[in-house]
Amino acid sequence: MDAERGRVFSGARPTGRQHLGNYLGAIRNYVALQDEYDCIYCIVDLHALTTMATTENLGSNTNEMALDFLAAGLRPEENIIFVQSHVPQVTELHTILSMVTPMGKLTDLPTFKEKVRQNPDNVNYGLVGYPVLMTADITLYKANLVPVGIDQAPHIEFAREIVRSFNYRYSTNVLVEPQMINTEVPKVLGIDGSEKMSKSLNNHIEIAGTPEETRARVMQMVTDPQRVRRSDPGNPGVCNVFSMHKIFSSTEEVAMVDVECRKAGIGCVDCKKLFTNNLNAHLAPLRERRASLEAKPGYVQEVLDSGAKRALSIAASTIAEVKEAVGLP
Ligand code: SF4
Repeated sequence: MDAERGRVFSGARPTGRQHLGNYLGAIRNYVALQDEYDCIYCIVDLHALTTMATTENLGSNTNEMALDFLAAGLRPEENIIFVQSHVPQVTELHTILSMVTPMGKLTDLPTFKEKVRQNPDNVNYGLVGYPVLMTADITLYKANLVPVGIDQAPHIEFAREIVRSFNYRYSTNVLVEPQMINTEVPKVLGIDGSEKMSKSLNNHIEIAGTPEETRARVMQMVTDPQRVRRSDPGNPGVCNVFSMHKIFSSTEEVAMVDVECRKAGIGCVDCKKLFTNNLNAHLAPLRERRASLEAKPGYVQEVLDSGAKRALSIAASTIAEVKEAVGLP
């Protein structure tokens, strides 16, 4: 990796086949960042354990997700794509950083409180320490840049505090304080038109689905609830299909839908067909690449193994410096 370029780190939980929300919120940005920075993208399987009821699909979810990342255009020769648990030094650094992290701050974090609210029966030790593991992820690879949406900013600020605390406690500058790259993360609603797109709510559209599967999902999309009959004028401002048009359709088509919907000049079925065609056309190259990568047996595993090897060499050197700074014999 080039020392002159900034080093980006980002982690994503292994959630299997990716949907439009993942694509617009993260993957597209991951692909773009490669042109400017050295990037380390990590599939954070250890983080996933904090909330997972079962690990049955962990392996296949990791594989499917990596395949979608690669199909979308991540370049594993120039960057590092790997699985968190393949580099065990991260757990070592996590333990060391735990000793400079005040417990009260962890339990005060709004994200922790939210997780407790969502899942009161599974408030485990790992969940409390989640931000410390995240700090270990970033600092182990000496990443100085982390792409985050505005709602994630407090996490990075907290990671910076942990780094300062460690460096101060051990009079060192071994760990690098990460900076945020503010990223616009659009809130992508599911086909129900009300909740954020998510697999668990089954309101998602897979990026690697077939054109026919995509069409079927789009046809289920909730539109302007006031537009009951074809002859009713609609309001694109409250319609999720229109929000998607703004991302995937041409300026002319967006303008046309905006005008025609308001005077019932276009029906929702035709409007959805237009969106489906544009979405399928946009995703066609990704789907083709995915099919060709899938046809190479062992390819994804090779990418992840090679990524882990390169990540491991950075991690081994950082952990040696950390231990020396701490005074561990
Ligand atoms: S015509 Fe299109 S924008 Fe208007 S309500 Fe129907 S789906 Fe939404």
